[in-house]
This record gives sequence, C-alpha cells and structure tokens, in this order.
Amino acid sequence: MAPTAASAAAGEEQQAVGLAARDSSGHLSPFAISRRSTGDDDVAIKILFCGICHSDLHCIKNEWKHSIYPLVPGHEIAGVVTEVGKNVTRFKAGDRVGVGCMVNSCRSCESCNNGLENHCPEVVFTYNSVDKDGAVTYGGYSSMVVVHERFVVMFPEAMPLDAGAPLLCAGITVYTPMKYHGLNAPGKHVGVLGLGGLGHVAVKFARAFGMKVTVISSSPGKKREALERLGADAFVVSSSAEEMEAARSTMDGVINTVSANTPMAPYLALLKPNGKMILVGLPENPLEVPPFSLVQGNRTLAGSNIGGMADTQEMIELAAKHGVTADIEVIGADYVNTAMERLAKADVRYRFVIDVGNTLHAAAAE
Ligand code: NAP
Ligand code: ZN
Ligand code: ZN
Repeated sequence: MAPTAASAAAGEEQQAVGLAARDSSGHLSPFAISRRSTGDDDVAIKILFCGICHSDLHCIKNEWKHSIYPLVPGHEIAGVVTEVGKNVTRFKAGDRVGVGCMVNSCRSCESCNNGLENHCPEVVFTYNSVDKDGAVTYGGYSSMVVVHERFVVMFPEAMPLDAGAPLLCAGITVYTPMKYHGLNAPGKHVGVLGLGGLGHVAVKFARAFGMKVTVISSSPGKKREALERLGADAFVVSSSAEEMEAARSTMDGVINTVSANTPMAPYLALLKPNGKMILVGLPENPLEVPPFSLVQGNRTLAGSNIGGMADTQEMIELAAKHGVTADIEVIGADYVNTAMERLAKADVRYRFVIDVGNTLHAAAAE
C-alpha cells in the first residue's frame, strides 16, 4: 500500500501512484509519483474522485502543442484532507475538499490580489505546468496531491464528492461567463452550444438563475434528455437549416463549449443585436470567423478562462444551494483509456468521473 500523507515524515517526499500518458498516443498507464512533503501552507489530500475533462484529452494527445510527458491529467479533483501544514487555517484533516485547474500563482499581482488567480501571468496549472520549485505538476488521476491552501476548495455539506468533482472545472468555466457577461439574470436567453461536460452544467446553472436556455447540438439523440432531464427550454439541431433559421437573432448570449473546430458564422447568427458569444471551448486550430458575422448586429466574440478561487468557492456553494451537480458516469481507473475513446466521440452522459479511491491502486498495480 502507498504511504498516506499523514504517515510521511516531515521533509520527505510522499509516494503516490497515478496514470500517465507517455506520448501523444494519449494512452494512459501506471506511473509512480513523488509529491512534495506537506509544507507549512499546504494541504495534503487523499483523492477519491476525479472528473475527466476534454482538456485532459486535448493534453494527453498534445493537441495544444505544449504537453510535457509523462503527463498525469486531472483537474476535477475531490477528496479528503489527510494532513495540513502549520499555517493552514481554512482546512483540517477529514475535511471534504476539491482542487480545480490551478495549484499555484504569484499570489501578489493585481489579478491575484483581486482573486483572479486564473489571470496571473505566473499561474501554475494542476498538471502539465512547472511549479515554482521547478517540479512538473501532476494532476488528479493519482492517489494523493499536495496543494497550497489558497487553491483548495471546501465542499459544501450537501455537495457529493463524485457528482460535485466536475464543478471544479466544468462548473466554474461556465459559471464565470454568465456572471461576468451579465447573462445570469432571469429572462435572459442563453444558448449552450455543445452538450457535453461543460454544456450540461451550463444548462443547469442557467435554469437555476431563471434564464431561458436553448441547447444547440450536433447530436439529435441528446434532445429528449436535454429537455426532460436537464430542463432546457428548447433544443436546436445544428445540422438542421430550418431549426437554425428559426433560432436566428433570438439569443442574448451563447456559451460555446465545442471542443472541435466548427464554422462560427452559423452560431454567431443566433445572437440578437449586441449579443455575445463567449468561447470556452479550446479546439486545436484557429477559428474561422467571417468579419460580417461579427460586424452585422454589433456582435461580440469573447473568451473566458476558468475562474478565480473566490469565484470557484462561490460557484460550488451556489450549486449546492440550487442542487446543481454533474450527471456522471462513474468508472474504474482501468476503464480510463476506453473512456477517452468515448469522450472523443461525444459518447458520455455527461461526465466521466474516475473512482480513484476504490480502483486506482489496483489499476496501477497491473
Ligand atoms: P465534451 O464533454 O467532450 O463536450 C464537448 C461537446 O462539443 C460535445 O459533447 C459535443 O456536443 C460538441 N462537439 C464535439 N465535437 C464536435 C464537432 N466536431 N462538431 C460539433 N460539435 C462537437 O468536452 P468538455 O469537457 O465539455 O470541454 C469542452 C471544451 O472546453 C474543450 O475544448 C475543453 O478543452 C474546453 N475547456 C475550456 C475551459 C476554459 O477555461 N475555457 C475549461 C474546461 C474545458 P453535442 O453532441 O451536443 O454537439
Ligand atoms: Zn477542464
Ligand atoms: Zn499573480
């Protein structure tokens, strides 16, 4: 059995197991990880669940051309605190906590001082990043992690660890565009483009905020669930010229979660005059945006990158209050490569979550 954080002597590295991609084939296989000893400001966490974000898939396949191998993905981490450093005030052993996309930042720039660590020029991501001590970060497809307390989120009592884990990336990524672009107001009509991990949580938040929400999807088979289970008001099949035409110029905002390159003009046409498309999807190649599709109707195309730590805590508390969680398919760690193949085909309803606590050690021993 791997030593737990609590059993590691002060100053000693802590041994963990994980799953890593070794090259751009993206195949994940067992990998031994050394985590730093729990520092004075650190929280050591036994990981119980980790969501599979499409960013994990982009990264293991080096689609963004900056992957560092071996690469241990995972930034929707939920678990239990095993040990805290002596300066840590917000957490204690036994707390239910999460870690999202970031594990460090400069902590002193304007963005950091405003709680927007996601915009810090020195932000350190949870995996595929180089931390201040020079170590490459390894994510949540692993048995434990050590994180500065600033980057740890407290799970509200009502929030389950498994269905709550995806909120740490998918949830915050769709919450901030609604908040900062003024879409989170009753009566606003928002389009959610792409009904995957991010998209389905966007539908749930939009419903919770009293917005009218229309899903625009390339998968007609998702229509019934979108309307009946997720509570969308309308569903537009993007390949249907008639349905797209009927929805033209009706939306105050569109949150674009599509993971692949698609033409933008048909979707920009859905916006009312002065409407905004907020891009959160990160396809591999440059976007195709005809100038007329923006200029006509004074439309705005914006981007949005996850969210700061204060917003993340706020988001998960609001989610708990409104009963917003992810719809998940819990998988064993030995299923992760199959899950990636299915995710590439948009074949998941709507987020895979790895049962790290119960299955990772066995899978890593194989
Ligand atoms: P996901 O679960 O795979 O969902 C993406 C959805 O996009 C699919 O379910 C599908 O929805 C649609 N789609 C996929 N391929 C398509 C194609 N060729 N044509 C049209 N539609 C297609 O992925 P996710 O985890 O939600 O992530 C979505 C994107 O956001 C990824 O690129 C990810 O890297 C990025 N991301 C960005 C941030 C950020 O901070 N900005 C944070 C997290 C993730 P339909 O079946 O409904 O069409
Ligand atoms: Zn993500
Ligand atoms: Zn900073």
